Amino acid sequence: MSKKIVSDLGVTGKKVLMRVDFNVPMKDGKITDDNRIVAAIPTIKYVLDNGGKIIAFSHLGKVKTEDDLKTKSLKPVAERLSEILKMPVEFIPDTRGKELEDAVNALKNGEILMFENTRFEDLKDKKESKNNPELGKYWASLGDIFVNDAFGAAHRGHASNLGIASNIGKGNTAAGFLMEKEIKFIGEAVDSPVRPLIAILGGAKVSDKIGVIENLLVKADKILIGGAMMFTFLKALGKNVGSSLVEEDKLELAKSLFDKSYGKLVLPIDTVVAKKFENDSPYKTVSVDSIPSDEMGLDIGAGTIELFSKEIAKAKTVIWNGPMGVFEMPNFAKGTIGICEAIANLKGATTIIGGGDSAAAAISLGYGEKFTHISTGGGASLEYLEGRDLPGVSSISDK
Ligand code: ADP
Ligand code: MG
Repeated sequence: MSKKIVSDLGVTGKKVLMRVDFNVPMKDGKITDDNRIVAAIPTIKYVLDNGGKIIAFSHLGKVKTEDDLKTKSLKPVAERLSEILKMPVEFIPDTRGKELEDAVNALKNGEILMFENTRFEDLKDKKESKNNPELGKYWASLGDIFVNDAFGAAHRGHASNLGIASNIGKGNTAAGFLMEKEIKFIGEAVDSPVRPLIAILGGAKVSDKIGVIENLLVKADKILIGGAMMFTFLKALGKNVGSSLVEEDKLELAKSLFDKSYGKLVLPIDTVVAKKFENDSPYKTVSVDSIPSDEMGLDIGAGTIELFSKEIAKAKTVIWNGPMGVFEMPNFAKGTIGICEAIANLKGATTIIGGGDSAAAAISLGYGEKFTHISTGGGASLEYLEGRDLPGVSSISDK
């Protein structure tokens, strides 16, 4: 189903409620990475340039104690947004009340204000996170239309997305440009991919990714498995995996996923092993049939990189979630680099990364520009890959 985009709504002279994902990392009251603010700029600019009045809001971390009200204020975020936009961004240090209402009514066309962390409402009764009906209704009453650009929060049905969308009136909710990209790339890749669709799954745990594996077993033409999760599969198939990370309680599940995959699941043929979980631990590449009992697999081997690269070379769509090895340690990053390289060499294919660490890996290894789309939402992109309905997406008005 095709969803409304901000450019499908008339914004001129309108009070535009805008849910953004400004859940940025902070240290000692300072923003350490403003990527999420930068990513929302196209939508914000579009509305301002077209004479809309923006009321912007976001969550920041989790709010459980009075102390969180001091450390999790969005004030520094509003200041950074103002620097980036090179214009004033009025900050209202509350999530409701007269000051906020007066400020909203005083907004002129092309002006923007931001209010406080939506999760300040969680301190009592978790009003934001439990989608308290009064709260969604109240926030919706502050504006004329609702633009949701917070894909990173779309897997949650909170007052600041679902609650507002349910109360703002039919046809009045649209996706921002960031949300549009996520729906387009992940949504299309999973629902109507140009084939062959090759999925590459890795990362720490099978248990985190069961839903993703199950959905992609149906949708994808091949699934290449790397990362620590490969050892749960290998052990389930009767191999000795030494001291590699294994989820003993998922062995049966891994076996049954493998058996019902009809050859779609491709497992590594070799692995890079070391005695210790340390970059400086001496390492070597061994066949998955001869992993020493006192060593652990920390990466896929060169033979597997070659095998996987051949599969990737046939792809018209690639979905990647989860690094192939402990990419944070340079000696065990080669598998992840090899896969980045194979994807970078693809021509005319749509290539997508979903997952926080996978995105960080590709970017830190220098391949950020080589992908068609790197998802901004860790948890949300995983749930989207599982084929689940995301409340933040489904509550956007249909075209
Ligand atoms: P994402 O955030 O992209 O969904 P995950 O959180 O599932 O990815 O997994 C990322 C983590 O998996 C990384 O920190 C990486 O070091 C770890 N990892 C990958 N391969 C192994 C391995 N063989 N042994 C232990 N940890 C691994
Ligand atoms: Mg992760």
